[in-house]
Amino acid sequence: MTRIENRDNLLTDPMTLEQKLWEAHLRLQTLYGEQELISRREPMRELISTVLSHRTTHANEEEAYWRMFEKFGTWEGIRDAPYEELVKALSPAQFPEPKAAYIQKILTQIFNERGEANIGFLKDMSLEEGLEWLYSLPGVGLKTAALVLLFNFHKPVLPVDTHVHRVTQRLGVIGPKITPDKAHALLLSLLPKDPKVLFNFHKHFYWHGQRVCKWAEPKCSQCPLPNICNWYQEHRATNKSENIPADN
Ligand code: SF4
Repeated sequence: MTRIENRDNLLTDPMTLEQKLWEAHLRLQTLYGEQELISRREPMRELISTVLSHRTTHANEEEAYWRMFEKFGTWEGIRDAPYEELVKALSPAQFPEPKAAYIQKILTQIFNERGEANIGFLKDMSLEEGLEWLYSLPGVGLKTAALVLLFNFHKPVLPVDTHVHRVTQRLGVIGPKITPDKAHALLLSLLPKDPKVLFNFHKHFYWHGQRVCKWAEPKCSQCPLPNICNWYQEHRATNKSENIPADN
């Protein structure tokens, strides 16, 4: 029986957290396939779209982004737009009021500092300098800063969103009181500082949290991780005697 087939029994060899995380990474990479680290959108768009994406579906984030551009045309137009009109354009996204305010403040700060809406200079900054600069922007937290630096500038940093956080917590790699911000450094300390590995790790754990290890009802029967998952071992493994998938 392979390790993956042995879904209800904990591995007999004790694993370090580092080994467990790497094993989970390899299994999810087999499931979802290795991805090339290619920037999907230009940096300003990635930054503003990530602000828009908070608690919003990808489709609604896209709709809000394009409505904003159709209405105001340029970054300058968005910066100077009447606030109420910008809120209206962003209404497909959740929380359009604070997002409109943050976007206008971010654009104002970038134009004031750089003279244009262009953050390509982050490529030449160290990871720490880049994080500090992005963190100084209104409404930009660690997840957004890490995502822009990894996706656009291929810096060795790990964005931890709600899905990455939940799956690694259920696996038992991070404790129940570890916040997503604290998990950034903790998970990064257990992984190779290789941007492509970190990109794949982020994508695969994100997809897994979205599609399989869902918040309300994890689909453990469709998951390759049960025998290294603390949550499964504590909540589901004992159901095996009933000979039915535990999550159906
Ligand atoms: S076994 Fe279940 S709880 Fe554990 S990672 Fe997989 S889906 Fe999530």
